[in-house]
Amino acid sequence: TEEKSLHFIEQIIEDSLSNGFPKDKLRFRFPPEPNGYLHIGHAKSICLNFGLGLKYNAPVNLRFDDTNPAKEEQEYVDAIKEDLKWLGFDWTEELYSSDYFQQLYEWAVAMIKNGKAYVDSQSSEDMAIQKGTPTQPGVDGPYRNRTIAENLALFEAMKNGDHPEGSHVLRAKIDMKSTNMLMRDPLMYRILHRHHHRTGNDWNIYPMYDYAHGESDYIEQISHSICTLEFVMHRELYNWFLDQIYDANKVRPHQYEFARLNLNYTVMSKRKLLQLVQENIVNGWDDPRMPTISGLRRRGYTAASIRKFCEIIGVAKRENVIDFSLLEFCLREDLNKTAPRVMAVLDPIKLVITNYPEDKEEWLEAENNQEDESAGFRKVPFSRELYIEREDFLEEAPAKFFRLSLGKEVRLKNAYIIKGEHVVKDASGTITEIHVTYDEDSRSGSGSEASQRKVAGTLHWVTIKHAIEAEVRLYDRLFIDEAPDSHKEKNFLEFMNPNSLEVIKGFVEPSLATVQAGEKFQFQRLGYFNVDKDSTEDKIIFNKTVGLKDAWEE
Ligand code: ATP
Ligand code: MG
Ligand code: MG
Repeated sequence: TEEKSLHFIEQIIEDSLSNGFPKDKLRFRFPPEPNGYLHIGHAKSICLNFGLGLKYNAPVNLRFDDTNPAKEEQEYVDAIKEDLKWLGFDWTEELYSSDYFQQLYEWAVAMIKNGKAYVDSQSSEDMAIQKGTPTQPGVDGPYRNRTIAENLALFEAMKNGDHPEGSHVLRAKIDMKSTNMLMRDPLMYRILHRHHHRTGNDWNIYPMYDYAHGESDYIEQISHSICTLEFVMHRELYNWFLDQIYDANKVRPHQYEFARLNLNYTVMSKRKLLQLVQENIVNGWDDPRMPTISGLRRRGYTAASIRKFCEIIGVAKRENVIDFSLLEFCLREDLNKTAPRVMAVLDPIKLVITNYPEDKEEWLEAENNQEDESAGFRKVPFSRELYIEREDFLEEAPAKFFRLSLGKEVRLKNAYIIKGEHVVKDASGTITEIHVTYDEDSRSGSGSEASQRKVAGTLHWVTIKHAIEAEVRLYDRLFIDEAPDSHKEKNFLEFMNPNSLEVIKGFVEPSLATVQAGEKFQFQRLGYFNVDKDSTEDKIIFNKTVGLKDAWEE
């Protein structure tokens, strides 16, 4: 087998191993903030971090970055774990930044004692003005030179809840003139009198991301802390915070940045996805139109197809936009191998075989999946009255119409060759019935000469008597714009596709009577469909997952 070339992070790891970094000290983490559900962008980071864990047989922690009680909830923690497991990954330890609140507090106190942090009591507006701009250095604020004793007393009072939100913050004392704006005395703590989903009301101060993240990596002894490119400028601060606590006998974490996944025709910021949920623009985080892992799962995506997608897009340092069709391609490749073929008619028109006996019923053999021999066969009923798709018939058809028309022959899949004879119309001229005759000797698989006969096309069908009525949900893209959140003067909500969901009634073959939520099928000639979780014994609901590229993929 061909050796796959290394991506740049693997290359970095190989280099450090050859420079003597001990392999058993490699350690990775995936650090979601539990403020929303995981989306396909997270899957890229998951496949990267857990992929490195598998490749180097190294631990990968699941660390919930739960430092903002205003936005975080247990529901999200549970959903993230479920999605990770479904994607096929196992974490070494389940950890929470909030587990480190006491340690982080003690380190902050030590920094105050070392003159590396101070309490600022200005308004956020004043602090923003003093911070300057990328081209203009900042200036020191009036509280920057508070005494250590004063800082310690104030910080403790903040912790104890003696001060209202917004009255004070703890800031790192770095350099108000740094060319890196993030180094101009960044915030370390703010006051929040909020209930935290794990620490309850224990804390009235909460650490900021930049402070908590690197120190949490250090506590867990993460060797390679991988994040997306927006954090390049944060690396200097990440390292500064580590300098304050680093012990040379320990592993010093390093931050590496890769390009985030961008997909066209969707948004991936959790804040925006939350807005779609809260404003009922979609039906929850797992709405099959959402780019969330749970939405894709409900739509009918397989975990293998998402992992394959992440493998194909690779890991690099340059931002780009991936076409949604690549994700669909990976899905089709997988479903083509695994999804049983069945027949369903979604826009039915009645077809009567006039020379087929009225009381006759046959059960014909149908192959479940020509791509998978082990999938076997099933029986499908055949009788005089059937449904076919309305669009599979034209009274007068052009030469290249390989479907049914008057005087022409087609094959009914798994069954007989039929010939269009005449149509029945209602008063408005709409066709209500198609009458055909069948060639009794032409049954598929019978081995007869007539069964080998070549005809223009093959149609799918169901018998009216046996078919099961089902609800079918057809989806289109959620946004009509390729990059809905890229417009300066327009909100992304202005680009919602008003026709992203169509609910129709369809008829499926009776072998589907007892399907369970999550089962996936190819409706022949129509696409791939997934049984929705809202299905009941009395009402089966299918989500259209994705269409077929070819009419018959055989
Ligand atoms: P969002 O902007 O959607 O809220 P986030 O980065 O704030 O995303 P986190 O929960 O903090 O969300 O992300 C957890 C991990 O997933 C981080 O390491 C982050 O870099 C990574 N991640 C998030 N979005 C993407 C993406 N689009 N592509 C690749 N990795 C991503
Ligand atoms: Mg984040
Ligand atoms: Mg975010």
